[in-house]
Amino acid sequence: MSEDPQRSPDVAKISQASAISLGLARGRMYRGAVNRCVNLLVHYPEGCAANCAYCGLAGKRPGAYRDKSFIHVAWPVLSMDALIDAINGAPGYVKRTCISMITNGKCRRDTLTMSRRLCRETALPLSILCSPTILSRDDFEAMQDAGVDKIGIALDLATPELFDRHRGRGVNGPHRWERYWAALEESLEVFGSPHVGAHLMVGMGETEEEMVALMDRLWRMGVVSHLFSFFAEEESRLADRPQPPWPSYLRVQLARYLIEEGSSTAGDMQFDHEGRITGFGVERDALMEAVDRGRAFMTTGCLGPDGEVACNRPFGNCLPDVHQWNYPYPPNQEELDLIRRHLFEREGPCREPLKSAASNR
Ligand code: SF4
Repeated sequence: MSEDPQRSPDVAKISQASAISLGLARGRMYRGAVNRCVNLLVHYPEGCAANCAYCGLAGKRPGAYRDKSFIHVAWPVLSMDALIDAINGAPGYVKRTCISMITNGKCRRDTLTMSRRLCRETALPLSILCSPTILSRDDFEAMQDAGVDKIGIALDLATPELFDRHRGRGVNGPHRWERYWAALEESLEVFGSPHVGAHLMVGMGETEEEMVALMDRLWRMGVVSHLFSFFAEEESRLADRPQPPWPSYLRVQLARYLIEEGSSTAGDMQFDHEGRITGFGVERDALMEAVDRGRAFMTTGCLGPDGEVACNRPFGNCLPDVHQWNYPYPPNQEELDLIRRHLFEREGPCREPLKSAASNR
């Protein structure tokens, strides 16, 4: 492809927010948000062979691959040399690097090459967001040998039917639900818990009950859940699909938090006939404390060496505003008041937190 000789492993794409953090792009984000992770993407002019309905990189999405937005922003292409120099000069709040794979025959080999360079030439820990369709168990061992310490698996969908509809046969895509679950188990065997995370996308037609059941199942097998909200990409198959209602997203976030804090389980929670959460299975005071702490509504992602979320993906799921589908920073008082009001809204399914868990049984 003479018109674009630049390809991985010599180059990589970098997210706009990461480029700003590294001083490779100018910009200032709402409320002074910063991206604490260097999010990189493997790049080939021919692009990704998959065709996921909601993804900006989908092979059948109109436009030249190089120009396709991903998660609503442009991802400039830079040499690995320039990226490594910038990472070594990164501000102290940058705590991790991540390489996102695409489904391309060369990607397995090239991701390993890029990983070895980043682990050898920079001090930041490295995650890989994998494409299980082109990987085997041996590849997870090779990634660990290269110095990678965390793995992300973008399962995204809450049920096998939704997975097949949006990533598999429903879009003539190569991905299979079974292969993704096998990859979760294989990567757990190699990296151990809590170093494997599953990306889950809320708002793809699942019920809150189905998403809670999935998060509970993943947690019990040792996998942490990284929540994303559906946020339509222009000209993608789902360009006209609305975001999940904010109150619904807040309920799912709170459920994930209580499960991974060990305070509740899917079995303890209550749901209405539409599968919406009506009770979280904890006493009122414990519930309100969890809400007031605010952490439940922040972005979940790979942690940095400081034990805080590094991959906070500022405004990756929505436009900057007091309503956030994933806050990249601790919500302030105004935002917490909004969260509480919408979580327990008068017309919502979850409006009576006063009822204690015991009275629901
Ligand atoms: S959560 Fe982890 S695997 Fe997923 S994009 Fe962020 S750093 Fe990468």
